[in-house]
Amino acid sequence: MSDLTFETSSASETRALGRRIATHLRPGDVVLLHGDLGAGKTTMVQGIGMALGTRERAQSPTFSLVVDTPLPDGTVFRHIDLYRLEDPAELDTLGFDDLTSDDSATTLIEWPERAMDLLPDTYLLIELRSAGPDKRAITIRPVGLNNRFDDLATS
Ligand code: ADP
Ligand code: MG
Repeated sequence: MSDLTFETSSASETRALGRRIATHLRPGDVVLLHGDLGAGKTTMVQGIGMALGTRERAQSPTFSLVVDTPLPDGTVFRHIDLYRLEDPAELDTLGFDDLTSDDSATTLIEWPERAMDLLPDTYLLIELRSAGPDKRAITIRPVGLNNRFDDLATS
């Protein structure tokens, strides 16, 4: 399918879009969040996480690169933020391959470009761009996920 583009006018609208996206996700899925600092990646992660059943809002991690939150259905909400990755070799130590090929986790990755060739082949790409103080242009591109996100434009 082609890209879907949305515009939000506040952080809560971005969280609401995240909740809609979440209804199309399944355990095992990987979501890549691409965009500059302050673009709204973590805000989008919060919306997706709340819809999947996390109780606390996702934060921008200060120390850990990976935060796992257990979900009510027994699966895991996995938030990876590579902003503080200093050396790609850390990805090996982290077990990045296993973390992103885990069928019992829904995995969201901020700054995925820092993982370069270690990214999976199948993912949902969410690209966020600032379009004014509170406006964000958000493009969604499913890669290798068949037609699962087709009705997001209308749902
Ligand atoms: P990132 O994780 O991309 O660095 P954050 O989600 O942490 O970005 O921060 C985004 C900041 O922009 C927050 O302070 C948020 O309140 C603000 N903001 C303003 N408008 C929007 C919007 N439309 N969508 C998302 N965040 C917004
Ligand atoms: Mg962030």
